[in-house]
Amino acid sequence: MRTADSETGMTARIIDGKAIAAGVRADVAAAAKLLPSQPALAVALVGDNPASHVYVSSKVKMTAEAGMRSVEIRLPADTAEADLVARVDALSRDPDIDGILVQLPLPKHISEPAVLAAIDPMKDVDGLTEQSAGKLVLGKPGLRPCTPVGCVILAKTERPDLSGANVVVIGRSILVGKPAALLFLEQNATVTLAHSRTRDLKMVCRGADIVVAAVGQPEMVKGDWLRPGAIVIDVGTNRVPAPEKGAGKTKLVGDVDFASAVHVAGAITPSPGGVGPMTIACLLRNTVLAACARRGWSIPEALARG
Ligand code: NAP
Repeated sequence: MRTADSETGMTARIIDGKAIAAGVRADVAAAAKLLPSQPALAVALVGDNPASHVYVSSKVKMTAEAGMRSVEIRLPADTAEADLVARVDALSRDPDIDGILVQLPLPKHISEPAVLAAIDPMKDVDGLTEQSAGKLVLGKPGLRPCTPVGCVILAKTERPDLSGANVVVIGRSILVGKPAALLFLEQNATVTLAHSRTRDLKMVCRGADIVVAAVGQPEMVKGDWLRPGAIVIDVGTNRVPAPEKGAGKTKLVGDVDFASAVHVAGAITPSPGGVGPMTIACLLRNTVLAACARRGWSIPEALARG
């Protein structure tokens, strides 16, 4: 974590997701070394989405760096749903595979729920199957979705005890908002789950000790939406035009207007460089946890405390 430069007028501490994620990956690598055999993560990607190819390549690279085995399945965009389901089913049955991740979004002709249903819940390292979601709602141990886990870890670097904290999560997607709200609830926070029908969102946010923005709207949350000193976790990654970089150029921005928020927040994640790196780190962590649960190994100390 580094403090923002006072000469620029910034006040918030910058929550350095890259550094924190590197720490989680180091713990995963240390844990993986202690296991009787190498855990294996399979990643399936369908189609030509350039962003998905970049994500999958970094997942594969970081899996190997953490001392785990990586299995990569890249399929053409016109792959039939039944073929993908059969491939995922085969991974589910393969005793040497510990974790399965299907990179989303899938091409429109493939039903995501149908494919997710083919993942063995014990190998559901993305935490997106109905069984994993059910365990989260019921408060039972299970594999939790990676991005929301990353949000909680980042918030806890600023406020280790979240008990009683007022947390506003903006966005109620299955992937991020809803599980994030449940994970903060699990930490005994008082959670408000806001969405596109929420009235007076600005006032709702101003009551929050912690704001988690998972909206998909570039720079929507402004500084004057925040209570001074609030912790801001910006999940958003939005590609927007950047004419200042040259004609046709683009850049990534979050769902929070960093320029105004940084003057009001007590701590804030940048985007990029905040939540994004945590998602892969938590995926690797889940792979070790899945391997331990499925193979009856005890969880190494480095991960047990997380
Ligand atoms: P999503 O499925 O499109 O959901 C967006 C949510 O935001 C919905 O619940 C929607 O409300 C709500 N919303 C939209 N406009 C709103 C508004 N004006 N006011 C209040 N709520 C509004 O998106 P997602 O998959 O959760 O992703 C959210 C963001 O996180 C995106 O920028 C995505 O790229 C990013 N993301 C980042 C990572 C990472 O690893 N860093 C991972 C996943 C996603 P309704 O439900 O009422 O429509």
